[in-house]
Amino acid sequence: MISNYQLQITIVRGLWLEKQHLSLRKNLPLPTPPHGEALIKIIRAGICNTDVELLRGYYPYAGVLGHEFVGVVESDGEWKGKRVVGEINARCGKCEACLHKNRNHCEHRTVLGIQDRNGVFAEYTTLPYENLHEVPHNVSEDEAVFTEPLAAALQIPQQVQIHPEDRVVLIGDGKLGLLCAQVVALSGCDLTVIGKHENKLEILKRRGIKTAIWNPKSPTSGNVEDVDSQKADVAIEVTGSPGGFEMARGYLRGGGRLVLKSTYAGKLTLDISSIVVDEITIIGSRCGPFKAALDLLARKLIDVGSFVHARYTLDDAVTAMEKAQEAGVLKVLLDVS
Ligand SMILES: [Zn+2]
Ligand SMILES: [Zn+2]
Repeated sequence: MISNYQLQITIVRGLWLEKQHLSLRKNLPLPTPPHGEALIKIIRAGICNTDVELLRGYYPYAGVLGHEFVGVVESDGEWKGKRVVGEINARCGKCEACLHKNRNHCEHRTVLGIQDRNGVFAEYTTLPYENLHEVPHNVSEDEAVFTEPLAAALQIPQQVQIHPEDRVVLIGDGKLGLLCAQVVALSGCDLTVIGKHENKLEILKRRGIKTAIWNPKSPTSGNVEDVDSQKADVAIEVTGSPGGFEMARGYLRGGGRLVLKSTYAGKLTLDISSIVVDEITIIGSRCGPFKAALDLLARKLIDVGSFVHARYTLDDAVTAMEKAQEAGVLKVLLDVS
């Protein structure tokens, strides 16, 4: 049920993606939440690399873009007025994965702003109540927008045991790479992050994390400042580029674990025999635990403030998407309401 006040609003604005073209639509119908879902008024949203990949046509999608957000529940009931973030996979509730309580792998899932479900670069969205998490009072709107990517970073320790004595190499200094690095560093392991951008690595250096500048010429030797030729127990690839994959693989010792935290636009060439001979475990890693992410944000254990490079209103969302694609730019936020 929606309050009378809300019923007076019938059309809303949103950033619409169709056939690799973005447009700000001003006459989208106010979404009607189906049974079990909440109407959410978007406060702030964040632009993610996945949004850029959708724009470039890496996956087919038409609809309102965006999946990183913080908003307020407008539907009547116990959630009304609560400030929330939301898990992006909405399950069918009937398939094998759903019956095993693994919502993220539901065979018939819809995904907020990515697959068959309008996203959050709009004044309103809907999501199942079971996907929602209330944002703690001491987490700001800007910080809350990072819950989804931080949860994705937390999927790494969820899947891979990283011991304090492990040597870990992480390749990539984009938004997700910087979050993954901060999460992995909490384990106390010997972590080195390799990236191409001095200014981005600086965010990690300030937190006492070892960094090195990428030298693509010799990916497997001690080619970069502060990285010796000692192999790693765990390599984490967060670039989504074949070069990043090759470098991560090159650093790994026999019996090591290779975590893939990025999707690859093209096909990847892989020396399978070496994976077998060296007994490498490859782990694909996607969405992660929201509750733990909110907890880390509330305890101020992760720096996300340094990531915010620009903010725009919803009306300037097309420009914001252009800004997000500029070299060296980290997070671009949309102030929706
Ligand atoms: Zn994302
Ligand atoms: Zn299902």
